[in-house]
Amino acid sequence: MSQAQDMARLEALLFVAGDPLAIEELARLLEKTEEEVEGLLEQLKRRYQRDQLSGLVLRELEGAAALATAPEHKELIEAFYGKTRDQKLTDAAYETLAVIAYNAPATRAEIETVRGVDSDSVVARLIERGLVREVGVLDAPGRPVLLDVTEQFLLDFGLKSTKELPPVDLLMYDTVIRITESAPGDTARRVAPRPLVIAIDGPSGSGKSTVARFLSEHLGILTLDTGAMYRALGYKALRSGIEPSDAEAVRVMLASTTMEIDLSDRVQKTLVDGEDMSPYIRTPEASKAASDISTLPVCRDYCVRIQRELGKRQALILEGRDIGTYVFPDAPVKFFVTASAEARAQRRLKDLEKAGIETSMEEVLSEMEERDRQDAERELAPTKRAEDAILIDSSRMSAAEVVDAMIDVIRQKEREQPMWRTTPGVQAE
Ligand code: C5P
Repeated sequence: MSQAQDMARLEALLFVAGDPLAIEELARLLEKTEEEVEGLLEQLKRRYQRDQLSGLVLRELEGAAALATAPEHKELIEAFYGKTRDQKLTDAAYETLAVIAYNAPATRAEIETVRGVDSDSVVARLIERGLVREVGVLDAPGRPVLLDVTEQFLLDFGLKSTKELPPVDLLMYDTVIRITESAPGDTARRVAPRPLVIAIDGPSGSGKSTVARFLSEHLGILTLDTGAMYRALGYKALRSGIEPSDAEAVRVMLASTTMEIDLSDRVQKTLVDGEDMSPYIRTPEASKAASDISTLPVCRDYCVRIQRELGKRQALILEGRDIGTYVFPDAPVKFFVTASAEARAQRRLKDLEKAGIETSMEEVLSEMEERDRQDAERELAPTKRAEDAILIDSSRMSAAEVVDAMIDVIRQKEREQPMWRTTPGVQAE
């Protein structure tokens, strides 16, 4: 039987099972070794990551796997299930879940110690919703019940196992920080809560946007393409007959310009004066205009203010040139993605061809080199790797491989610095 057939059979089994299926069981049904099944699962996972037309993802749990719907369809699925599952978890419920997940198995008294309030009713609701379950009793006076999170919790939060605390628990970063900061006797660490920021910087064509999109799907965190903001403003200047490098004219233009970023359906809309500029900003002219306008301090201030505001409100992956060095210098996770000029020009050429724009390799290469030079040499916030950014050379790597490398780094960071504690006094801005 071919590997493609094996994958199809595996997919069929996961589909009918609905609930997580043990790898052992899959191996028995497919007449494969567990290692072979793990290999097939990895491929299936990547296929879903790549396939923009699929609404499914593969979730791996410890020793098991399940098919689940992609996080971006959450609202749709909730609408289908109706009101009962529609009810959002309260802050108290999130906190309690985080305490249990990180301390499992945990007793009610332990939860109460960390949260500082009686949590019995919250725990009861979490049990009712199938997110928490009783797993035994502690051999201590009173024989208190031990609680753990369920597979349903792991599925809902995209986690593989609580032991490993994989990246999706970053979704709870804000909550976890609040818990750890308010833990009794820990007042010295008290800092303002802030959502997680992941910075991905690098030159054009390095594949940042693609990997940011995949990573976003994997982590369930939104992505902000900051280049689109400079592109949209550069394009508005061009359309208004303004030279994008004319500081005074651009200052006047920006004084009456509104910009909104709509990330609601996960495909960024960059609205300038209420109009979505996305369809117009990928041409070589818009690229050049973006590079020119982005050298102006007035324009950078305009965009950076919006970027910081968005990053303060929610967990966010930001991709650009200066995220790790300037916009969010305290971001706990930073990557600098690069690739050889040829590899980058090849990718750019493909993108342009896809968009129906006729050009040649020579033209793309020279336009890209000129833009890179200008972006790297400008005085304010040039393209630069932050000292603490992880360098990834993607010349010979597929997007999926880059994403895997990033996830490894995130996991490693999580292990080194459990719960992403911030250092005292350090703020997002
Ligand atoms: O990433 P992208 O190629 O879409 O960016 C377009 C231009 O916007 C870049 O060439 C750069 O001049 C500018 N830019 C910037 N700072 C960012 C993102 C993009 O100056 N954070």
